[in-house]
Amino acid sequence: MSVAALAALIRERQPCVVLTGAGVSTESGIPDFRSATGIWADVDPFEVASIQAFRRDPARVWSFYRERIDLLRAAEPNAAHLALAELERRGFVRAVVTQNIDTLHTRAGSSDVVEVHGSIRSAECLSCLGVEPVEAVLEQLEESTVPACPRCGETLKPSVVLFGEVLPAGAMERATQLAREAQLVLVVGSSLEVWPVAGLPLEARAYAIVNRGAAPDEQALLKVDARAGETLAAVLDALA
Ligand SMILES: [Zn+2]
Repeated sequence: MSVAALAALIRERQPCVVLTGAGVSTESGIPDFRSATGIWADVDPFEVASIQAFRRDPARVWSFYRERIDLLRAAEPNAAHLALAELERRGFVRAVVTQNIDTLHTRAGSSDVVEVHGSIRSAECLSCLGVEPVEAVLEQLEESTVPACPRCGETLKPSVVLFGEVLPAGAMERATQLAREAQLVLVVGSSLEVWPVAGLPLEARAYAIVNRGAAPDEQALLKVDARAGETLAAVLDALA
């Protein structure tokens, strides 16, 4: 019932922009952050994933991210990523705005992806603003605890938004613009806890949520409390 209703919403309310969070990738075996079994249950994000930690002890931050990069690169897109890519191909989804850094939307075939928290695709130099692909960074990390900028020698930072950093202005502007132009923002796998991204659905005419567990749904047209993969695959069938 809710799948049929969601499919109807997507058909009627175009353009539709999708906003995804950690819950879209848990079915790829990637742990989320805030649940009882999430990453932040074991480690303090301010010790390993904040800009202050990076300035104080970049080796510790890189030791955390190197393990994460390995895990994310080994993961495969799941049914939810594939369904969203197919929805874009069929003209039902204009773009995907994601909080995830895992690049799985792109690997699944989505072509318009706005990564508002950055991605593991590269590392960047805060000094000369150079960007280095992740493959070269991983090679350096075989020999050294931190990667160095090949241009100026400064320590590279993962191209992901750390706690205490502002979101990349360009990505956030594009995401806000997309949300404002959307008749529907479909939130998938996010409990909308992290600002400013959590405010994006409120920029749209309307929004709907596919998320297991809590999510602020008072203003949502529809909330589907189910797994993202099977729900979106069923929506895709319903739109066929
Ligand atoms: Zn540099």
